[in-house]
Amino acid sequence: MQYINGEWLDGAGTFAVTNPATGDEIGRVADGGAAEAEAAVDAADAAFAAWSSTTAYERADALYTAWRSMTERASDLADLMTTEQGKPIRAARNEVKYASDFLLWYAEEAKRIYGETIPSARSDQRFVVMRQAVGVCAAITPWNYPISMLTRKLGPALAAGCTVVLKPAEQTPLCARAVFEIFHDVGLPAGVVNLVNAADPVPVGTAWLADERVRKLSFTGSTDVGKHLAAGAAASVKRVSMELGGHAPFIVFDDADPVHAAKGAAMVKFLNTGQACISPNRIYVQRAIADEFLATLADRVSKMRAGSGFVDGVSIGPLVDEASVAKVDRHVSDARDKGARVLTGGQRLTADGLDAGHFYAPTVLADVTPEMAIHCEETFGPVAPVIVFDDEDDIVELANDTTYGLAAYVYTNDVSRAWRVAEGLRFGIIGINDINPTSAAAPFGGVKESGIGREGGHVGLDEYLDTKLVGWSV
Ligand code: NAP
Repeated sequence: MQYINGEWLDGAGTFAVTNPATGDEIGRVADGGAAEAEAAVDAADAAFAAWSSTTAYERADALYTAWRSMTERASDLADLMTTEQGKPIRAARNEVKYASDFLLWYAEEAKRIYGETIPSARSDQRFVVMRQAVGVCAAITPWNYPISMLTRKLGPALAAGCTVVLKPAEQTPLCARAVFEIFHDVGLPAGVVNLVNAADPVPVGTAWLADERVRKLSFTGSTDVGKHLAAGAAASVKRVSMELGGHAPFIVFDDADPVHAAKGAAMVKFLNTGQACISPNRIYVQRAIADEFLATLADRVSKMRAGSGFVDGVSIGPLVDEASVAKVDRHVSDARDKGARVLTGGQRLTADGLDAGHFYAPTVLADVTPEMAIHCEETFGPVAPVIVFDDEDDIVELANDTTYGLAAYVYTNDVSRAWRVAEGLRFGIIGINDINPTSAAAPFGGVKESGIGREGGHVGLDEYLDTKLVGWSV
């Protein structure tokens, strides 16, 4: 179904949605194109004047109601996510909580869209700065976090007074529909939020880029697509927020506890089967503790169980599709061919019915070198490549030697070193002895080719607000 101007609509055709753990078809959704994309903008544009004129208190109320509704539906949403996206049910429940946090946070922040007054050098002049909603916003989201990536955009956009047209990933339209059902039930005015599903994203994206009524594009996805969309948005000088790919270093210094650090690495690397933009993609460990770190990491990873996310004890879900399995396999083969040692895993999983899904064994590689593809490209899969290092300055330089700049992790018990390295790393998010440096209250985003702008926190709201100066002669 499409959700346009407050109505659920069928399309000319449909496309299938499958469970990545079993390959089974779990539903069909209406397939949209340029016509639906334009109708969605018509609705969002018509709704903008009234929605942007509501009081902050009314918008906050709507977001509070949506938050309560998502909280009440959390269990069903998590079940749907595990079925459609594959992540283990516990991780799905965590994501629904994270997703609802954005609704709550921006319900609260809606009331704090402050302006300011600025002293003038002229005695007869006054400056007032006001903040106003940007306008119609187009949002395009990925499949790996199929609910929270929507609320991370919808929460601040609605709080600011923007109206939204959104296209979710073709792999996870059912989760998107469930989010929009919440907004429908909340009773948002028709046209304030609109959902367009499409098997082919290009006609929808092209229509929104070409439409001058769309004043902002917020995109989460791969860097290549982000560059293409940002270039298109430039034609009508739309505001852009880009949450793109990552290639996170995970640096463990020899003053850290190697067992604690290895536990952290195992947890964060294999979260969502490695399909996270902030997933560590290069693990660097200082020589003196390398053996103990590697032994602990390999031991923990070898005990991880892959399978259906509904089965107790499973922590490794399927990859999203065959192309992802092929990419992981290419990275592992390339590393092995160039001399890496496979400590555990290293192959596709097919036994016990896993051949029906896209499963790859959780893998640890030792003796990785910078020449290997896995050291340069985002893997987006369950592989932990480990490199041993000696010197602090060298490792910061190597960690920074990438076009990406999203997240980085550092394990150290030396406070001065922690500051030094956090300041030296050119990434938007740094975890110091911490594997989850994310929250609805905190700014999330990257530098360099990992993105522009931030989501979450009070700065996340700025992305949906224009600053207007009013100068008065008195
Ligand atoms: P993707 O291929 O770039 O797709 C993301 C979204 O863009 C999907 O909705 C996709 O639609 C759409 N899309 C693709 N080509 C398009 C075009 N030409 N015009 C308009 N829309 C287009 O990325 P993905 O594989 O789904 O997601 C994985 C990537 O996202 C990774 O690189 C990951 O690091 C990144 N990511 C970043 C963050 C962050 O916050 N920085 C968070 C999560 C993920 P279809 O599904 O129909 O192709």
